[in-house]
Amino acid sequence: MKEQTEKIGVRRLCANVIYVFRYAYQHDKKMGIAYITSQCTRCGVNTYLNTYLLKEVIDALSAGAMFGYIAYLLIIWFLISTVQVFISIWCDNLFEIRIVKLSGQIQRELMEKTRKIDLLCYDLPKYYDDFIIAASQSDTMVPKAVMSIANIMASLLSMVIAGTMIFTINPAAVVFPVAGFIVNIFVHFAIARQEYLFEIERTKVKRKADYSKRVFYQPEYAKEIKLTGIEEALLEQFDEAVKEEKAVSKKYMVKIGALHLLNWVFTFTLFQYFAVPVHLAYLAIVKKSIGLGAVASLKNATNNIKSYLDWMNHSLVDFQKVGQYAERFRRFMDYEIHIEGFEGLCEIPQSEAVLELKNVCFRYKEDEAYVLKDINMTIKRGEKIALVGENGAGKTTLIKLILRLYYVSEGCITYGGVDIRHLNTRKYREKIGAIFQDFQIYGASLAENIKMDFVKEEDRLKIQETLKRTGLEEKLEKLPAGIDTELTREFSENGIMLSGGEAQKAAIARIFIHDMPVAILDEPSSALDPVAEYRLNKSMMQGADRQAVILISHRLSTTKDADHIFLLENGCIMEDGTHKELLERNGVYARMWQVQAEKYCTQIYETRID
Ligand code: ADP
Repeated sequence: MKEQTEKIGVRRLCANVIYVFRYAYQHDKKMGIAYITSQCTRCGVNTYLNTYLLKEVIDALSAGAMFGYIAYLLIIWFLISTVQVFISIWCDNLFEIRIVKLSGQIQRELMEKTRKIDLLCYDLPKYYDDFIIAASQSDTMVPKAVMSIANIMASLLSMVIAGTMIFTINPAAVVFPVAGFIVNIFVHFAIARQEYLFEIERTKVKRKADYSKRVFYQPEYAKEIKLTGIEEALLEQFDEAVKEEKAVSKKYMVKIGALHLLNWVFTFTLFQYFAVPVHLAYLAIVKKSIGLGAVASLKNATNNIKSYLDWMNHSLVDFQKVGQYAERFRRFMDYEIHIEGFEGLCEIPQSEAVLELKNVCFRYKEDEAYVLKDINMTIKRGEKIALVGENGAGKTTLIKLILRLYYVSEGCITYGGVDIRHLNTRKYREKIGAIFQDFQIYGASLAENIKMDFVKEEDRLKIQETLKRTGLEEKLEKLPAGIDTELTREFSENGIMLSGGEAQKAAIARIFIHDMPVAILDEPSSALDPVAEYRLNKSMMQGADRQAVILISHRLSTTKDADHIFLLENGCIMEDGTHKELLERNGVYARMWQVQAEKYCTQIYETRID
């Protein structure tokens, strides 16, 4: 909630807008120059024509000048206008074309930044809000920064031209537009502040509504929504969010409406429509100090000043909005990436000893309880390790630490004897293949879904072999375009949907395609039936003879052949050893095994398959 009332000083606001302007300029130099040229030409030329040239024409007519001179002035008027329109249209078009390209570049850069950001940032609501706002507003905010700076420059130029005109004829006439401007600027800033607060509050509420909406439209949720009562809860959450959004709109719209009314009464009615004509009539009719040309020119000049002051107000309001949004944009872009971008202090070791965890303790936040306590394990090359335990025991967290998605709170993890904190993150992760329970299948070809990268000609054979190894041989034969078949129907009508088990096999193939020293499988076969799981497990273990495998599974039948089994409970290693040793110990593992053996009749399956 503190975020909503976040106040930013004027200097910071200006620095933010300049940051965004420079950001746009670095990406596309022509875009900013085109818009500034278009606006300055349009405003400057029009003000000159409506004041100086108009006065010249009317004065010439009043003085009975020759027709040739009047025609000369009108031709000059026509030529200047035509050139100005040509320049402005050309620059506007250039700006519009460039803006599309720039928006794409910004979105891409935000995606890149998101990819690189440390996973722990997702646990921070402040970061997440910054990201949502930075991403959702960036395509409008960056052009707005350029536009507001260009508009302020153009209005200043026009006001200098019109102001010089007024000063040379009657300096007092400048009072009215300036008084109107002062009221206008205060009211507009107040309106902008309210609109900004409104936007921030509404974004948060909308996020709730959007979540419910998204769940309803996404195919992966469809089955559960139809079969369970979750839709009621989601609909209620949606209704609640809409109600909140309505309340937020009402709260701000009343305030914003009242401010607009105040502005109308003072700025327009009093200072413009009433005061200026009365003052000019007084000068021309009562005092007789100015002629017809000066009246027309003064009226236009004060109108111009008023309009450009208003316009500048709007631009300043945009300026303020950009400055406030840019605060988050900057914060997001300047977020220091600690883990992901780490270049490393030493080379990746090639040694045989792979991973060692020494007294590892971990908690997600400093004020929270430890999720892992005093974990010690050594995982050698070719060794098969299993992590078993109840939900919430800390298995996945341990994997996240090995993958260096988080820092360990205490103790250390070494790879080939070197603390992984000293290794280049990207290169270290290249040594580890991991597949999680919540893996994703992407709207791309089967081959790309396995390689998880561009597929080159020389990769094709290896992809096919890996698919056979993970039990997808039969499926592959039936596919219309073999490994080039699109998965999901998102982009291709001929795309196929893999079953839950097939998708898991495809996901497992991802880690065998690259010969990484360590393979991590977090519940890799939960969607398979016990027979398929047994087969996959066996081929996986045989196939990964040179790799260290860390396997997490609820089914002890999957993990029983592991070289070493660790049983985790409440973040601690309760028991460890081989399957045989653990059964002999007759502890928690042995009890779990008994319960599951009865359930799945693993032994029977095993003998039947063998
Ligand atoms: P397991 O894989 O054994 O089911 P996890 O490692 O997923 O267990 O979770 C261990 C504990 O850490 C649980 O209490 C869980 O609520 C907590 N936890 C998991 N992820 C986070 C997170 N991002 N922030 C805070 N706590 C988390």
